[in-house]
Parts: sequence; C-alpha cells; structure tokens
Amino acid sequence: MNIGQEVLEELKNEITEVEYNRYIKHLTYDIKKSTSDHAIFYAPNALVVNWIKNKYKEKLTHLFEVKTGNKVTVTITLKNIKERTKTKKVVENKQTSSLLNPSYLFDNFMVGGSNQFAYAAVKSVSEKPGIVYNPVFIYGGVGLGKTHLMQAAGNLLQNAGKVVIYATVEQFLNDFIRHVKNKTMERFQEKYRKCDVLLIDDIQFLSNKEGIQEEFFHTFEALKGAGKQIILTADKHPKKIGGLEARLQSRFEWGLVADIQPPELETKIAIIKKKCEINKVKLSDEIVNYIATVIESNVREIEGILSKLHAYSQLMHVEIDLEFTKNVLKDQLKENHQNLTMETITNIVAKDLNIKPSEIKSKGRSKNIVYARRVSIYICRELTQSTMPQLAQYFGMKDHTAISHTIKKINNLIEKDEDFKVKIDELMHKISSCS
Ligand code: ADP
Ligand code: MG
Repeated sequence: MNIGQEVLEELKNEITEVEYNRYIKHLTYDIKKSTSDHAIFYAPNALVVNWIKNKYKEKLTHLFEVKTGNKVTVTITLKNIKERTKTKKVVENKQTSSLLNPSYLFDNFMVGGSNQFAYAAVKSVSEKPGIVYNPVFIYGGVGLGKTHLMQAAGNLLQNAGKVVIYATVEQFLNDFIRHVKNKTMERFQEKYRKCDVLLIDDIQFLSNKEGIQEEFFHTFEALKGAGKQIILTADKHPKKIGGLEARLQSRFEWGLVADIQPPELETKIAIIKKKCEINKVKLSDEIVNYIATVIESNVREIEGILSKLHAYSQLMHVEIDLEFTKNVLKDQLKENHQNLTMETITNIVAKDLNIKPSEIKSKGRSKNIVYARRVSIYICRELTQSTMPQLAQYFGMKDHTAISHTIKKINNLIEKDEDFKVKIDELMHKISSCS
C-alpha cells in the first residue's frame, strides 16, 4: 500500500461509511507525480473535486503530516485523460509546465454580454497564437472566468502540440526563487522563455515586487520578440495596478486589454444549466432561476452551491427541491461572510436606525434601542457563525435562551409583517455587500 492509500484508509476511520463510499473511495493517488511534500489525488469529476477540497482537504493534509512528519501540500484535481494517453516524452515535457485544468474549455464557457469581448479576444489568439494580439490582457473581479478562459486557450493549444506554460504570479515567483537557490537559473529561463504560449494568472501580485518584475520583463521581451503568445489576467486594468514598473505597464497594453463584467441573469442561468449538465445534476427551472437570482456575480459560488446541493442530496437521500436549495444557500451565505463581524453588523444597523452602536450593546430599554438590538442579533445569527452564547455575551444578554427568544420574536414578525420582512432583507443585503 502506498502512502496515499494509507492516508485514505486512515481517513476512512474518521468519517462515515456513506461519505467514504460516496467520495473518498473514488480518489486515486498519483504515486509518480507526488513527492514527499506534495500529494496529488485525482477525482472523477469537478463536483467531487470541489466537495473533497472543501470537506476533507484539511483532514488529508493533517493525516499526511502525522504519517510522514512533513508539511505536505495536498492537491485534488481532475485526471487529464488526454495526458494519460500521450507518449512518455510528451508527458515529461508537460511536467515542466503547471497542470492545466482539463475541464476549462471554450465549449463549456458560457458567453454573454458581460464576457463576450474577452472571450472573442482569447478565442482569436488561440486560433492564431502570436499573430493577432500580443499580449492579451484580461481583467475583472473574482470568479468571473478569467482563469477558465485563459486555460481554455491553453488546453486548445496544448492539444495542438504547443508547449504551454500556465503559472500564477505566485508560482512564477516560487519557481524563480527555487532556481536561484539551486543555481539553475538557465533552466528557469529555458523553461519560460522557450515555450510557445505563456499564461500568467493574477498579474496584480507583481505589484511592488521589483526583482520578479525585472525577471518577468525579460521573459516577456524574449517571448514577444520570438512571436510567442502571452495571455495575462489581473483583477484590474493594467493602469490601475499600482507598484508596477512603467515599462511593464505599457507592455501590458500593447496587445489587447479586455474586461469581464459580472454575468447578467441570462448568462448566469446558462452557466448553471451547463454546470448541471456536465455534473449530471438535475434541477428544475425554478431552482436554477432562484440560484441565479440569489448569487450576485461570483460564478465560483455557483459551483460551490451545486456541489453542495448534489452532495447533500446524495448523502441524505432527498430530492433537490426549492426548500432544500434555500437551506443549502443559507449555509453558503454564512461561509461567504466569514469575515463579517458582529461589530460590523451592529455598526451598520445602528447607522441605518440612527442610533449609536454603543446603545445597541447597552442595557437600554427604550423602544428603538430594543428594536435595533433585536434586529442586530437576528442578522448576526443569520450571517455569522456566532453561537448563541457568543451572541449573548456580545449583546450583554443574560444567556443563550434570551437570544433564542429574540430570534423567535423576529422570525414571528417577519412572518406576519411583509414591510418588516422587506426592511430586514434590505439591511441584510446592505450588510452582505460590505463583506
Ligand atoms: P477567475 O479566474 O476570474 O477568478 P475562474 O476562471 O476561476 O474565475 O472561474 C470560477 C469558476 O466559474 C470556474 O469554475 C469557471 O469554470 C466558472 N465560470 C466562470 N465564468 C464562466 C462562464 N462564463 N461559463 C462557464 N463557467 C464559468
Ligand atoms: Mg483566477
């Protein structure tokens, strides 16, 4: 038994049999690619990948550490079927580049008004690399498909026989440091300056890192000079990334700069439907519409929700109906707001109701203070992971029963009074968008 299998066996003792059979059983350990500080597991589909990353990755990391005494990075990824069937030489070649996610393809990238310009730009350079626009610079918020799009070009070109390198700025930097330490800089330069296509993700992290900017500049010049395609992404326009050398900033704008905006409702719906189709999850139109409306923009969240819905329904043997979806989404909202503190919530509620935050936490019994306190408690319970005793302590209440009393009262009000419900929804929305 190899170390990967041993760790999975250990995990088996810590989780239920159903969980094990449903998910962990399907993992395979890559004994060839894994090293003493990096364990690679393959899962059969994206949902299982997501689910295992969220639920078990920490446990797996811990188990490796216990077993080997090393800090081990655990990677859960999809098996690249094409790569498996390539000849040995090509596989060796591939190992020098980062793994592309084989499921990031143009075919499953849904195009709408929000992303059609970026899509067209990346598509055209993947058909004529190094010729039309160089570099292509895609920018936009988190989870809007930048990495997906750039890797779609990478996958297409790699399958056409090109040597494609994908790296985040962080990986590029780590690689650089490693080669400096090992005195193998020629190998580093060989790797990055001799590829056909270079994909560098999250360029904003170059900001204020002079050494690596210098190295990247020379890489850029070498590739551009040789007519090799470069695709870059960032969370903002090159002009807005501070701490960048002027010569880099201007080069980023040499080719084509395209933005990705948050998806419109129809695009969101199309994305959800596509993800359901790929992952064989059946959802009614009503549920698809509900998810699309509730999730504002980040597509990654949509995937998180689908994998949760799927996993929960399998574990609990229930159909995915609207009620069930709403419950799962509630959990997701809490996770999204992990940084949201009771203090922030109290401050926003206080401001909205025109009283002082300290009054909410005081023992004041006047009507509007009691009201503000109840609303704050309710929202803290909904949007944070705080327990009843924590809430009681924070709001200076006697104990957790006082809190549950308050929450019951608010729930009753919400049920009876439509105006109140709208008011609470608005407040929660306002607070959610602050985190
Ligand atoms: P970013 O790099 O912009 O943060 P990602 O490319 O990682 O975002 O996208 C997050 C997730 O959302 C990915 O799983 C991706 O497949 C999915 N996604 C984003 N936009 C789309 C789209 N237009 N069509 C299909 N999937 C999308
Ligand atoms: Mg990304």
